[in-house]
Amino acid sequence: VRRNAGEPEFHQAVREVFDSLGRVVAKRPDYLEDALIERICEPERQIIFRVPWTDDQGRVQINRGFRVQFSSAMGPYKGGLRFHPSVNVGIIKFLGFEQTFKNALTGLPIGGGKGGSDFDPKGRSDGEVMRFCQSFMTELHRHLGEYTDVPAGDIGVGAREIGYMFGQYKRLTNRFEAGVLTGKGLFYGGSLARKEATGYGNTYFTQAMLETAKTSFDGKRVVVSGSGNVAIYTIEKVRACGGKIVACSDSSGYVVDEAGIDLELLQEIKETRRGRISEYAELRGSGVHFVSSEKGSIWDVPCDVAMPSATQNELMEEHATTLVRNGVMAVSEGANMPCTPEATRVFREAGVRFGPGKAANAGGVATSALEMQQNASRDRWTFQQTEARLATIMREIHDACYTVADEYGAPGDYVLGANIAGFIRVAEPMRAFGVV
Ligand code: NDP
Repeated sequence: VRRNAGEPEFHQAVREVFDSLGRVVAKRPDYLEDALIERICEPERQIIFRVPWTDDQGRVQINRGFRVQFSSAMGPYKGGLRFHPSVNVGIIKFLGFEQTFKNALTGLPIGGGKGGSDFDPKGRSDGEVMRFCQSFMTELHRHLGEYTDVPAGDIGVGAREIGYMFGQYKRLTNRFEAGVLTGKGLFYGGSLARKEATGYGNTYFTQAMLETAKTSFDGKRVVVSGSGNVAIYTIEKVRACGGKIVACSDSSGYVVDEAGIDLELLQEIKETRRGRISEYAELRGSGVHFVSSEKGSIWDVPCDVAMPSATQNELMEEHATTLVRNGVMAVSEGANMPCTPEATRVFREAGVRFGPGKAANAGGVATSALEMQQNASRDRWTFQQTEARLATIMREIHDACYTVADEYGAPGDYVLGANIAGFIRVAEPMRAFGVV
């Protein structure tokens, strides 16, 4: 704790994995040798750097950039970049730690990393975002490479930002190294279905959990928090599977639409105009209401399935208690660590099927690895081909978590299953490499 002072999110993520490891070391005491567990918790490398840029008024602005290269045991570091004012080294470390196990769960050869900046893209012009991204990449590029470290998007980093960063990387290195970034535009090496992958993937994972209860999305009331990349494509896929999404949100509040969220309207507001969720209620008209975040929580809306897809620690103990009281049967994390440990405990104790983010939202990074495969072979797959691979990967992740939980005496406990399966896949190559 002293070594990582002031990093509560990182402590939370490590503690959550440690809680599951007791059962592993009881069976395999050799994992206690050579400080293996301590080594897994220590990032291989952390880079913190200055990002100076000029705003539209000609003033020089300074932000801080981060890249935490957590583990290369399974392959090149892989994980997104987050641009949000809340970003600090502890948040990036928690995300990098989670990413390492998540990437291992995909079964694909990718290590774990995460990065970003405290830059806030909200309200910034395209020119400002471009100058920021170019300055950020001017420093970061020396640490990247298709065999070294391959970033992608996350909160605040979408196709626009990836485009500016890839352009700058190409200019600085004089190499068209497509495999150095994922989430690229379709015209220059991006993969079809990458944009949809995290939301679709979580829907597949949840579907598999529902099947274990001999049911499906058909006719279920579903609440999805957020209205960004993960939320929008979760809404699309859940709707295609017969579920009805009755509420979604952004940081200003949430909307309830009993007729089912109108996805096309939501996309027009969020993806095209970069507007606020309150505009959805204004434009959709009667029967829809907006509740500001000071006045209530999206988790007060009764539902059968909850898919938190906004940000860390957005769903707390009292929200979990309300959801259980309202009869929720499955909760699956689209975001990274959206449920606090207390909320997770409430769900697990109530017997609610609970999909932890490191398993349920792994579809995004899995499809990023498929983008790397396409880039390496100078090939391009169809949407159907890519989505079919994604569906298979999500099914395999679900089954691995389910089987491992069973093997370790906790049937149906996906948290335990994901932590143990992920840990073993990272620990084995580390043992093979010796003390490194
Ligand atoms: P986006 O930036 O596209 O969207 C984030 C959404 O969450 C926005 O609607 C944002 O609203 C909302 N939000 C942020 N903070 C809050 C809050 N406190 N309360 C309510 N809503 C909030 O990001 P993504 O959709 O890409 O990422 C969402 C989560 O999913 C993150 O935890 C990310 O790490 C995780 N994830 C993303 C993957 C991907 O492929 N994109 C892959 C795996 C995980 P506002 O606009 O008001 O800020």
